[in-house]
Order: sequence, then structure tokens, then C-alpha cells
Amino acid sequence: MLDIRIEKTTNPKPIPDESDPLVFGTIFTDHMFVMDYDTEKGWYDPRVIPYQPLSLDPSAMVFHYGQEMFEGLKAYKAVDGRTLLFRPNKNIERANNTNRRICIPTIPEEDFLQAIQTIVKVDEAWIPHKEGTSLYIRPFIIATDPYLGVRPSNTYKFIIILSPVGAYYPEGLDPVKIWIEDEYVRAVRGGLGEAKTGANYVASMKAQDKAHEGGYSQVLWLDGVERKYIEEVGAMNIFFKIDGTIVTPKLSGSILPGVTRDSVICLCKHWGIPVEEKKISIDEIYEAYQKGKLEEVFGTGTAAVISPVKELKWDEHIMEISGGKIGELSQKFYDTVTGIQLGKIKDELGWTVEVK
Ligand SMILES: *Cc1c(COP(=O)(O)O)cnc(C)c1O
Repeated sequence: MLDIRIEKTTNPKPIPDESDPLVFGTIFTDHMFVMDYDTEKGWYDPRVIPYQPLSLDPSAMVFHYGQEMFEGLKAYKAVDGRTLLFRPNKNIERANNTNRRICIPTIPEEDFLQAIQTIVKVDEAWIPHKEGTSLYIRPFIIATDPYLGVRPSNTYKFIIILSPVGAYYPEGLDPVKIWIEDEYVRAVRGGLGEAKTGANYVASMKAQDKAHEGGYSQVLWLDGVERKYIEEVGAMNIFFKIDGTIVTPKLSGSILPGVTRDSVICLCKHWGIPVEEKKISIDEIYEAYQKGKLEEVFGTGTAAVISPVKELKWDEHIMEISGGKIGELSQKFYDTVTGIQLGKIKDELGWTVEVK
């Protein structure tokens, strides 16, 4: 158990009016969680303090060599008034996997969960209530040694900030158009692809720009070696429904293991829908499309939960999916996952954790 010191703000900000749209990642709550690390003390001084800027040495290692990790999960106001987290232990387990990959000290799982619970409880009033809204939780760790040599840092800061977010789809699930990238790559096996770290995002920005210029909202990445096998979308994993079977790329080492991805696979198994995690080539997808067997395509991620895809552009080929509308099964996954998150559907799989 962490002994978390709590210092409340004396100058609370107004909580945003929910009738105004909440733009993702622009508003932050009154408090933040902070905990420091050094090699002698380990993780120490866990505290909740007023939300405020950081003061760091310009030589702090995070600015130079990218030793940084992050997570993303949400707290929901359930229909019965409880505050729920969705599978937080999956995020915490993944956080420590990321830490191990980029030489950041791990955090005991129970301490990590206690930190999330404590900060969410302090700013519980900031959780919006309207359908589809939530409180986004962003834990992250940065390397803080003031040193320009290349090695893992000996000191770190673990911080959790919170941001109320509006409905991802205020007008109902809106299918997206996706650009299949065959020039730039996001990650390679043995690299950082399965770690949740900023480095993967900076690697993706150039192709994201290219997609936007072409009128597409997201990039679908192919593998970094042959540029042939499907990997994932920007900040989402990808699923295809081909001839009645749900298929998704298997975790190869260069794909981020999404919690939502795992939840969709679990639901398929629970419902008895055939589901396969396997290597999928882009040619295979195009062939299924040509034969009229590519029935649904959707992305999965914490932000949107399910993001239906209405168009895939690969080279000169344009694939139009499900007549531009959300597929039946995509809708069912969305309704079920969000239903569990909001406590509207019985949580048979034990996925929610109450914040008390
Ligand atoms: C976070 C993330 C995802 C989605 O993971 P969830 O746990 O489902 O939110 C997918 N791809 C990348 C690159 C990510 O960073």
C-alpha cells in the first residue's frame, strides 16, 4: 500500500458544462498524481497535488533520447452512479511490459491501481455523466536525469493526469476512411512496436500527414520488413469479418496489444463466433473483398471503443466496406463493451472495477 499524501487545490477550476462539446485532451482536472524514483529509494513520495506545470532541467534525459512511456484508460459514470474502471489491470500489466522494454523501473501492480483509484476519487466530480462521455486517464513516466550521455536514467517521474472527454461519436458511430501505407513503416519486430511509448507516435506522423492530405483519417500499417502483412491502425488494432469469421493480426512483437482488442476476442469466444489471430496479408484482404467476402472492418481502441471502417485505400485499389455503414457485428461489439463500461449490461466477464 502506498501512503499517498493529498494536497487539494485552493483554487478549483470550473468544471466544464457538458452541453458544450468536450474536445479530446484539451481540458484537465484540478489535480494530478506524482511519484518519484531514484535507484536508492525506489519509487517514493506518492502524492496528489494541484494540476501544475513541471519544472525540469533542460538536460533531462526524456528530452533527448525519448525514454518515456504512457498508458490510456477511462473512468465511467455508471447508470447507477458508481464510478467504474474497465480492465485497469490489463493496462497496468502492459505498462510494466513497456517499462521493461525501455529500461524504466516497473511499478507494483497494486500500487499502480491504488494511484489511479486515488486520483480518480479526488477528481470524481469531473467525470461527465452524458451518454458516451468519460474521464480519460493518462498515466506516464519520464526519465529525469540531467545528463546527455546515452544510458537508462537513474531518476524518473510517474505522473497521472485526467481529462474529461466527450462522446467520440456525438452523432452515432461514424465509419472512417483508412489509408494503407506502403512506404513508411511504424515499427519492426524487435523494435518498440509492442510498447506504448511516444517514439512509436513520432514515427507515424509523416504517414498520418500523407493520409490526411489524401482525405483519409487514419493509416493502416503494414509490416516493416515485407510491407505485406497487416499490423494495426494509428492508435487502434484492426479486425476484419471475412465470410463469417472475425480475424485480426496476431501479436507479432511489432503490434500494440490493445485491451479493447483482447476484449473483442474474448467476446467472440464467449459468444461462439469464430475468431482467428493470424498473419494476414493485404493481398488476402483484397482477394476477400473482390470475392465479396469482406463483410466488416473495424478498429478497436480505448478512445472510440469500436471504429467502423467504410473505405480502405491500398495503392490504386479502393475497397468499400458494408455499404458505408457500420456492420451488424461491429455494432454489437460496441453496444456490449460500452454497455458493460456503463453498468447497463451484466458484467459476466468481471471486467469492471469500482472506484470507491
Ligand atoms: C493504445 C494503442 C492501441 C489501443 O489499445 P487499447 O488498450 O485498446 O486502448 C492500439 N494501437 C496503438 C499503437 C496504441 O498506442
